[in-house]
Amino acid sequence: MQNKVLMILCDGLTPDAVIKCKHPFAEKLMSTVCYNPHAQTVFPSWTLPCHFSLFMSQTPDEHGVLGNTFVPGERKGLFEQLRDNGKATSFFYSWGELKDLYAPYALCYSHFVSEEYFPHGKVTELLEEDCEKFIKEYEPDFAFLYLETTDSIGHEIGWGTEEYFKAAYHSFGLIEKIMSVLPEDYSVIILADHGGHDHTHGTADPVDMTIPLFIKTDREINRELFDKANIIDVAPTVCDIIGIEPSKKWRGKSFMK
Ligand SMILES: [Zn+2]
Repeated sequence: MQNKVLMILCDGLTPDAVIKCKHPFAEKLMSTVCYNPHAQTVFPSWTLPCHFSLFMSQTPDEHGVLGNTFVPGERKGLFEQLRDNGKATSFFYSWGELKDLYAPYALCYSHFVSEEYFPHGKVTELLEEDCEKFIKEYEPDFAFLYLETTDSIGHEIGWGTEEYFKAAYHSFGLIEKIMSVLPEDYSVIILADHGGHDHTHGTADPVDMTIPLFIKTDREINRELFDKANIIDVAPTVCDIIGIEPSKKWRGKSFMK
């Protein structure tokens, strides 16, 4: 039974890029696992509010993080819920602001690579390598791998440009690499936090609000709920797969049967 979860988030990856990057593994995923190319994120579609909604299963109005600056508050997120239930958690990331997604006790292991210091592709390669190694050795119940390149290239060169699709291609290469060595008891969720257009995102426009969502699992999925998925539904889904109750404060609904 696949009751552990690897969640991979490609920052700013649009459903359009999943197709246009033309990575064979992206094509394979689209045809072999459950895929929703029109899942929705929350408004405002900025990185930090979207991540808080992903991990706290609440809208920005509820969790109170409305921009890319952290606002302290009493919250219980996915990492806390997992640790309070004795599950092992791990977090691989490169954008410093994400450190506020968890209380210090809630992580068993984290690996931070500064995207200000290393070149883009190198950042995600280092994170993937360590995530792969850690999973192989310790098999945590939950691992979160953050891949930043698509967002950085989107801001620097533009969403929908050749360079942006190359960044998506590179990310799918890393996704293929880690998924090819993953122990059998892992389900995998792949998603974005938001989309993007021109050199930015944050608006309520569908190009910013629509995100790709993949799930590969041997568990039964409620297709109707999955096809209407919002980013706030992901944390309860992870708990469902791992076999623990979601927090009572969460708003999303698991899309597992
Ligand atoms: Zn961004």
